[in-house]
Amino acid sequence: MNSSFDGVMGQPGVVAQLQAAVVAPVHAYLLLGTPGAGARAAAEGFAAALLCPNGGCGECRDCRLALAGEHPDVLFYTPQGASLLRADGEEIIRLALRSPVEGRRKVLVLADMHRVSVVAPMLLKTIEEPPESTIFVVLADHVPPELVTIASRCVRIDVPGLPSTVVRDLLVAEGCAPELAETAAGAAMGSLDRARLLASDPGLVGRREEWARVPRRLDGSGAAVAVVVEELLGLVQGAAAPLLARQEAEGAELEERVAVYGERGSGRKRLEDIHKREQRRHRAEELRFGLATLADRYRSAVTDGSAPVDAVIGAVQAIDRSAEALVRNPNETLLLQSLLLRLPALSAR
Ligand SMILES: [Zn+2]
Repeated sequence: MNSSFDGVMGQPGVVAQLQAAVVAPVHAYLLLGTPGAGARAAAEGFAAALLCPNGGCGECRDCRLALAGEHPDVLFYTPQGASLLRADGEEIIRLALRSPVEGRRKVLVLADMHRVSVVAPMLLKTIEEPPESTIFVVLADHVPPELVTIASRCVRIDVPGLPSTVVRDLLVAEGCAPELAETAAGAAMGSLDRARLLASDPGLVGRREEWARVPRRLDGSGAAVAVVVEELLGLVQGAAAPLLARQEAEGAELEERVAVYGERGSGRKRLEDIHKREQRRHRAEELRFGLATLADRYRSAVTDGSAPVDAVIGAVQAIDRSAEALVRNPNETLLLQSLLLRLPALSAR
């Protein structure tokens, strides 16, 4: 490894901006973008580079500790709930005011800040004028209204979704069969994390077919909708199996380390937090993937002439609105039911 940014895949523009920022950093950065496209790895590489005496060599003690998540002056804060609570805000402020342990600078990475919610006003002053030794790196999937003011106090760096060709090539380079890499990349919505998971997921093709089959199963009745939605949510649930298997393996590795080295410094809490976040994210991505597949199915009905254009436009708009609403974490069952009740049926191709 010869740069602390080597773990950031397929985002040369983001890396270049961050490397330039290391020279004379400001007090706060916002890394904004598609989950799984590399914002987190970029934040880790950036934090390492900010503490590294060589600007991010990837090899010195500061770099190694920072990249392993173990540097005392790199703090990652990830809120646990669906949105931040007052206690989260107080903890972030406390961490921001704390002096660096080792050097003259510390980096405070705030993950998932699109969930900042009502805590935003409380954090604003600290983020716009932190102690001189503190640099904030704010991560968010998108900028909801509550985050707008905080975002305006940060230097914003967009982390775009990865093109599916880039994701495919990265998967192939990691040893994935080309055909599977192509399918997984196409369903990954710009996320390398998701693509890796899908590449290990034998159920992917079947799920895509089930979502595409939905318009054929609608008959205008609430009863049909209820059955379809229950099945779709079952699919979403089942899709988590490869993720859960991987997490279980990571948990077992941790137990082995604890058995040898003890509980202290084992990173148990960190691993549990990561797993919870991964599960939440996976569910949201699986739903977005399903809705995108559904929208594609309606679009193809225009191409093959099996549905009027107006009906398809309305359907695609309704699907897009539901996909956006899912971000805000509503009741998935009700949301899908009300969507499917509004969608026109399509006959089989
Ligand atoms: Zn270094």
